Amino acid sequence: MAWDFSTEPEFEEKLDWIRKFVRDEVEPLEVLFPGCEFLPLSEERRKIVDPLKQQVREHGLWAPHLSPELGGQGFGAVKLTLINEILGRSPWAPIVFGTQAPDTGNAEILARFGTQEQKDRYLAGLLSGEIFSCFSMTEPQGGADPRVFTTRAVRDGDDWVITGRKYFSSNASVASFFIVVAITDPDVPVHRGASTFLVPAGTPGLVIEATHHLAGAHPHEPGHSLVRYDGVRVPADALLGEPGQGFMILQTRLAGGRLHHAMRSIGVAQRAIDMMARRAKSRFTQGSSLADKQLVQAFIADSYTELMPFRLAVLHAAWLCDTAGEHAARTEIAVCKILASQVLKSIGLRAIQVHGALGLTDQLPLTGVLLGGVALGLADGPTEAHKVNLARMLLKNYQAEDPEWPSELLDKRIEAANAKYGDLLDRIPALPDSS
Ligand SMILES: Cc1cc2nc3c(=O)[nH]c(=O)nc-3n(C[C@H](O)[C@H](O)[C@H](O)COP(=O)(O)OP(=O)(O)OC[C@H]3O[C@@H](n4cnc5c(N)ncnc54)[C@H](O)[C@@H]3O)c2cc1C
Repeated sequence: MAWDFSTEPEFEEKLDWIRKFVRDEVEPLEVLFPGCEFLPLSEERRKIVDPLKQQVREHGLWAPHLSPELGGQGFGAVKLTLINEILGRSPWAPIVFGTQAPDTGNAEILARFGTQEQKDRYLAGLLSGEIFSCFSMTEPQGGADPRVFTTRAVRDGDDWVITGRKYFSSNASVASFFIVVAITDPDVPVHRGASTFLVPAGTPGLVIEATHHLAGAHPHEPGHSLVRYDGVRVPADALLGEPGQGFMILQTRLAGGRLHHAMRSIGVAQRAIDMMARRAKSRFTQGSSLADKQLVQAFIADSYTELMPFRLAVLHAAWLCDTAGEHAARTEIAVCKILASQVLKSIGLRAIQVHGALGLTDQLPLTGVLLGGVALGLADGPTEAHKVNLARMLLKNYQAEDPEWPSELLDKRIEAANAKYGDLLDRIPALPDSS
């Protein structure tokens, strides 16, 4: 039996250090530099952020998602979950630890599918946290359905020429390079006809038409851009992987990314529960504390009851990734992707309610929890599409049976039991005589 919920003492020490470091050193950045996580570091920010990154490096915790070949510790997904659930508490923590999305996923596909030249050019900067990147896939006319993508890349001599428009390309305005998904063979289904390209920022024809922000975001945040690729010409070696591998590459990227989001969501939700509990014990109304009111107690109990199975689902999916590989964990990752949004929305909403009007203001980070849950129900594919996929994966394990009577019908089960044991019994069911 190898099921084990304990954490090695040496690793628990690391987690203790991370907890204290995030609380004492990183959380203050939220108010010093709000919404500046993805802005290239100014001199002023560098003075504070670089030494923090250095401390993380000295503790052997920089980029904990990476394998040792790429400069990480090779912690694996379970340990990464334990780290990421702490980092999820603060929007600055992933930057200080080098684990921020979308750069982690982009680095992962570069490491897996890039040529040595591509890695030398893009990966080193990304892994050191000195540059940001953009994953440009969603299109304005249809995000959740890649079959309607129209961005094309056409071969022209030694070059590829990319034409089309992409929407919601996060961090496009600060990215040093873009990973663009384009159709290279329109005559075959998209899972064989799409390819991915590496396009440096500033390439002629790459135009940021507009940048939209999520509600509540600061205007200086890089946001999510509508990008036009207006005959963008890139050399043949800008192709990441082989022609037609685009869909497979993006699936690889998204699977890990979804699980990382879920890991961080545990920390976001736990922080909201902590706030809710502290407020409930501190606020008095109608003769008693909120913590004494049964309806508020239900808020806290329901929130914890939602968080715990979610956390276990994420740890289980992570354990499957470690022991059997990401492909074997795809059903469980889909569950985590769906749950992350639900859990953040319902816990965020309760935490706001317990804080009363104050909970809705910009003085507390709680609307961010709620909206973060809404965003996670869309980013990396909407919940509904994931439910459809999850159902398909689950249904594959079942066979159709008699359309008139289900196999669990009592008469049918009696018939089957009779066939198996009937020669040993006088009657079925063989109940004790109660007379
Ligand atoms: C915070 C955030 C960051 C993002 N960052 C990026 C990024 O960096 N790069 C990038 O390329 N994209 C990014 N996206 C875009 C994201 O991938 C898309 O929003 C998502 O795929 C949905 O596409 P859409 O918004 O066009 O919605 P639509 O495709 O218009 O879907 C709208 C709604 O239709 C329903 N629906 C869709 N498909 C189905 C289905 N199969 N079954 C049932 N109902 C369905 C769902 O309710 C869905 O929400 C980001 C999104 C968010 C919110």
